[in-house]
Amino acid sequence: MGIIIDQSLCTGCETCLEQCAYDALEMVDDTARVNDNCNLCRACIDICPVEAISLEETRRQADERTAAASGVWVFAEQRDGTMPEVVAELLGQGRRLADQLGCQLAAVLLGHAVEPLAAELFAQGADTVYLADDPRLEHFNDDIYCQILARLIGRDQPEILLAGATALGRSLIPRVATAAATGLTADCTGLAIDPGPRTLLQTRPAFGGNIMATIVCPAARPQMATVRPRVMKAAEPQLGRSGRLVPVELAPEDTSRTEVLEVVRAIDEQVNLTGAEVVVTGGRGLGDAEGFELVRRLARALGGVVGATRGAVDAGWIGHAHQVGQTGRTVAPRLYIALGVHGAVQHVVGMQGSENIVAVNTDPAAPIFEVATHGIVGDLFEVVPAMLKRLEQTRG
Ligand SMILES: Cc1cc2nc3c(=O)[nH]c(=O)nc-3n(C[C@H](O)[C@H](O)[C@H](O)COP(=O)(O)OP(=O)(O)OC[C@H]3O[C@@H](n4cnc5c(N)ncnc54)[C@H](O)[C@@H]3O)c2cc1C
Repeated sequence: MGIIIDQSLCTGCETCLEQCAYDALEMVDDTARVNDNCNLCRACIDICPVEAISLEETRRQADERTAAASGVWVFAEQRDGTMPEVVAELLGQGRRLADQLGCQLAAVLLGHAVEPLAAELFAQGADTVYLADDPRLEHFNDDIYCQILARLIGRDQPEILLAGATALGRSLIPRVATAAATGLTADCTGLAIDPGPRTLLQTRPAFGGNIMATIVCPAARPQMATVRPRVMKAAEPQLGRSGRLVPVELAPEDTSRTEVLEVVRAIDEQVNLTGAEVVVTGGRGLGDAEGFELVRRLARALGGVVGATRGAVDAGWIGHAHQVGQTGRTVAPRLYIALGVHGAVQHVVGMQGSENIVAVNTDPAAPIFEVATHGIVGDLFEVVPAMLKRLEQTRG
């Protein structure tokens, strides 16, 4: 596979040279040529005004590449040496997929001074850990992370690559899919193997959450998916389990156009919705921003955090960092209390994995009651103060 330039079409306009971030194009005899810096990012293909540039891969090459691919890989995201829970969830699901396919499960770990995390990845089911440990990887960097991952994929040809649909995964993985010239299904909520063609069935909500679409990538490898945190079952760690550690060296050309000057924790990270054991969510039934004070009081009394529907967020009553649902966070606490929440499908996809769901709504036909384990038909402004009073009495 490679970039080819049709010399008979090239006008020597140099647009592609200006676009190329890797100095992979040069002028020879007034026409553009590709050099060894090319990493197949394909930016030049889209920019060429006379469509002289294309990607060359014969059908036979593509079929051979697909047949040769083997192994399930999980991108083991970490920040400051801590991996989010979604990595264990991906390894749990990755193990099930690899066992079904009869292949190896690998984790790819990039960072600086992160080698101790490899033991955790083995314990969670990885047979192999690819470890790139270098000061240049201390802070997450799209460019360098992408270059390393794309090179590893080209060399070892995995069949499947999974990553978390986190801020970091959502930024990195589309670039990797482009560099590897394959497809990507973002924000999956279900993954399975179609046993006949051995393709990955990637399920995700579509059309505003009204249908679940199952997407396949039959002709390119790896099949890539990002997965929402808290929808897959995490691997049970097996202490003492070990595997093969494969060191990955950085190449001299692994450089970036960006430099991290300072890391500032985003405010929304401080709302630890995804990891909370108790979430108390307010919807438009609260009436106004002041209504959230009641939600906050109940959350405080239960040691939980405050969630919100998009209805409440759009009304400007609370920040988006609190939003639960398809375009907010996915949560699965032990206790989820929904106050004045209608139960729209886009909200429910983000909280239906909760262990216990208590809903308070004046409308007995509200769809939230269909997913609630305990439903209270009543006015939240009466029910919540009664709950608070009861909690105080119990504590007293
Ligand atoms: C593409 C797309 C993505 C979306 N993503 C999300 C998302 O991530 N999260 C999300 O939440 N929504 C999302 N939505 C919006 C979603 O469709 C609903 O519009 C939204 O969830 C409604 O919010 P609500 O339940 O607070 O408001 P409403 O639908 O107005 O419901 C308010 C409820 O409060 C009840 N009520 C009123 N007064 C009281 C009272 N005093 N006591 C008790 N109950 C009372 C009412 O009976 C009613 O059921 C999305 C929509 C689209 C199209």
